[in-house]
Amino acid sequence: MGKGKLFILSGPSGVGKGTVLDSLFKNFSSVKYSVSATTRQPRQGEVEGEDYFFVTKNDFFNMRDNNEFIETARVHNNYYGTPRAYVDNCLQNGEDIILEIDIQGAKQVRDCYPDAIYIFLVPPSFEELENRLERRGSENKESKKLRLENARQEMKEIINYDYIVVNDNLDRAVEKIKDIIISEQKQKRG
Ligand code: 5GP
Repeated sequence: MGKGKLFILSGPSGVGKGTVLDSLFKNFSSVKYSVSATTRQPRQGEVEGEDYFFVTKNDFFNMRDNNEFIETARVHNNYYGTPRAYVDNCLQNGEDIILEIDIQGAKQVRDCYPDAIYIFLVPPSFEELENRLERRGSENKESKKLRLENARQEMKEIINYDYIVVNDNLDRAVEKIKDIIISEQKQKRG
């Protein structure tokens, strides 16, 4: 484990993790973002290497076999993984980094990076989560159903997280996450 701090952000699909992080990074640069690899198809507007590294299943399994991920998970019938090299380089260089990963991945990270800080983003209600998935319009009926079912399971993991942030208002949620990061960074230096 190097000198940098590792932050983990989880939360059910549709809760707004991506939007919150986009907004956070607009005026906050003291933490890096780890781009995951996925076998899922790109959504409209998603950029290779910025949102994800979009890979084939074959490539994904090869990378996994070569130990190139610090964690992997099958989420909603697609595979996701956090590339090891970038995370470890950042941490060794004393740079802090945030991963946006699901609860299965977070569990795996806990074993190897026990000092990581775990943040869980929750929707104000399940109705709101359903509305957001509907508004996002990126999922078909089946996928939306699966994501909502998974969300109920994911919420049970909340107790294993250090911080819970309710995404009832984007700016407020971003500020809260920023405060958490800054306060953890101060502790590191202090
Ligand atoms: P989406 O397909 O909506 O971008 O992401 C679906 C889920 O996969 C989200 O809960 C997201 O946090 C999770 N996810 C994204 N990247 C990774 C990763 O590298 N590892 C794991 N375990 N989950 C990820």
